[in-house]
Amino acid sequence: MLPRIAVIGNGQLGRMLKQAGAPMGLEVLPCDPSLEEPVSLNPDDVVTVEQELWPDTSRSRQLTAHPGFLNARATEVIRDRLSEKSLLDHLKVGTAPWCNITPDHTTEHLALVGDKLVIKRRQGGYDGRGQWRWQQGEPALDEWLGECIAEKMIPFDEEVSLVGARDRDGNCVFYPLTLNLHRQGILHASVGGLKRLQPLQATAEEWLTRIMEELDYVGVMAMECFVVDGDLLVNELAPRVHNSGHWTQAGANPSQFQLHLRAVADLPLFTPVVDGYTLMWNLLGRDWSTRWLAVPGCDVHWYEKEIRPGRKVGHVNIHRPQVADLEASIRQLADMLPEDERAPLLWGLKELLGDTPA
Ligand code: ADP
Ligand code: MG
Repeated sequence: MLPRIAVIGNGQLGRMLKQAGAPMGLEVLPCDPSLEEPVSLNPDDVVTVEQELWPDTSRSRQLTAHPGFLNARATEVIRDRLSEKSLLDHLKVGTAPWCNITPDHTTEHLALVGDKLVIKRRQGGYDGRGQWRWQQGEPALDEWLGECIAEKMIPFDEEVSLVGARDRDGNCVFYPLTLNLHRQGILHASVGGLKRLQPLQATAEEWLTRIMEELDYVGVMAMECFVVDGDLLVNELAPRVHNSGHWTQAGANPSQFQLHLRAVADLPLFTPVVDGYTLMWNLLGRDWSTRWLAVPGCDVHWYEKEIRPGRKVGHVNIHRPQVADLEASIRQLADMLPEDERAPLLWGLKELLGDTPA
């Protein structure tokens, strides 16, 4: 019998987990943790998360006290950048130089980390929110004290991420590295299937394996990295399915959502089968058009959220086995967009056309 999977969180990730369970008849129950009313749980339910942080309510306490709640330690460590960065250092995983900002910190302490820093809120930041840029000579803000870490600004060449999963027996499987385009701290597009990233794959897998083993983690985890002069530095971790893995819905079998469900439900895992290339484009504060569905290989995931400026309200995956076909599809979609919205698609196209096995 399949267990039922309760999810702490009912945003788009919970929604897509639910969609991924449906074909197998695996019931997924996204739960809004901000509500007080208890949910009706069975003793053999599994409890997983689609977010790292939640308010303290009787419902969230009920979910985390359930015997089927997975990854309590991983979630606790990763939700706070202080313990997350300390874990990376402890495991000797490469990461940007950093320091904690305590009340007795002076700007001299900050300058020891670097001339230019990114100040990051320890908890609750996302899509680049809760961050400041600082450089030598500038004052430190009082609101950072005890609340933030300081990280050296990394002049990276590009950003990639590794999405993988670990099962209850400790077996780990991974997707190929994803190339990500962030602007103002928010993910705009990803490309899955690039061959030129293969030389970084082994190190990335070794690091994420080390992290998941240390945390005795079960399920999908994502590791965001900077690439600097051909080397990786880990930026941050996500103990859940991740936006940079959305391309796997079209470009891999199983998708990251199915893979997470398999792992947490104690079902068999295999290394995901990936063929061809996929471009994922985030819909940020904009509607979509049914005309896009005429583009071969294109499908739209709409989260049914209210459209607000910059808000992630959906994504588009375009998958084709051959680069030349994907090029045609991307150009066809780009032509349907206003010129100032084409940049993420053209970025992806340039990457695809320039891909050669390393
Ligand atoms: P979030 O939780 O908002 O995703 P991140 O730490 O991933 O926070 O930061 C968002 C983006 O900001 C990154 O994807 C990257 O583009 C940029 N960024 C973050 N940290 C640094 C850094 N140390 N140096 C340079 N850019 C950074
Ligand atoms: Mg990030």
